[in-house]
Amino acid sequence: MSFNSRYQRQIAFKGIGAAGQASLGRARATIIGVGALGTVIANSLARAGFGFIRLVDSDRIEASNLQRQLLFDEADALAGSFKATTAATRLARINSGIVIEPLVMRVNADNIVALVSDVDVVLDGSDNFEVRYLINDACVGLGVPWIYGGVLADSGVSMNILPGGPCLRCLMPETPDTDSFVTPETAGVLNQITGIIGSVEAVEAMKIVLGSKDVRQSLLSVSLWDAAFHTIDIAPNPTCPTCGHT
Ligand SMILES: [Zn+2]
Repeated sequence: MSFNSRYQRQIAFKGIGAAGQASLGRARATIIGVGALGTVIANSLARAGFGFIRLVDSDRIEASNLQRQLLFDEADALAGSFKATTAATRLARINSGIVIEPLVMRVNADNIVALVSDVDVVLDGSDNFEVRYLINDACVGLGVPWIYGGVLADSGVSMNILPGGPCLRCLMPETPDTDSFVTPETAGVLNQITGIIGSVEAVEAMKIVLGSKDVRQSLLSVSLWDAAFHTIDIAPNPTCPTCGHT
C-alpha cells in the first residue's frame, strides 16, 4: 500500500499537505488511558499516520466498556483482555506502517516522566484528576505539550496545555470538589461526547505536531444534548504552583 494513496484525503487537506503528512509520520505521541477517550484518540492518530503511539493503561476490558470504547468487542470483554495490548493489536491491523507501544501499567509519580519525555505530544484519555495532575506537572516541567480532555454524561471539555501557556493547575489548582455521587456510573456517558472530545484532542495533537498557527488557545466546552459549543479564554495564574513564576 503506497504512502501517498493511503493518506491522499489527508494530504489533499490544505492544513496538512505532503510535507505535513511526512511530519505526522515522524510524530510521537503518548496516550494516557485507553478507554472511552483513549480509544477514539488512538484510532484517530493511527489512521492519520502518527509514526509512534504509546498506549498506557492498566485496566482490563469489561462489558460496560463496549458502549463507547470503540476498539473493543464482546470477545475482549469475555476474555477480560488488557485494554492497552488489545488496542495495539487492533491498530496494528489498521495501520502496519506505524509503531505502537502498549504498556500495561498504572501511571504514577515514579514513571510519568519516562512516559512523556520522549514524545511530541501527550493526550489525556484518563478519567481522573490524580493522573491529570501527574501528566500536567511532568509535561509542564519538561516543556512537552499535552491535551486535557474530560467527559461526563452529555458534556465534555478539552484544553491544550502548551509550554508558556496556562496549565491545568491554573484552571484548577486542586482536584475539583465535585459531588462524589456524580460519576460516569451514575450520570452516564454518551459515546457521542467521547467521540467528539477524543476527536478534538486528536486534531489538536495534529496541529501541535505540525506547528500550526491554528492550535486552539482556549478551553472548549461542549454540552452535546443542547448542541452547545463554547470556548473560554483561560489566563495563566502567576501564582500557579506548577507554572507560576512569582
Ligand atoms: Zn499553571
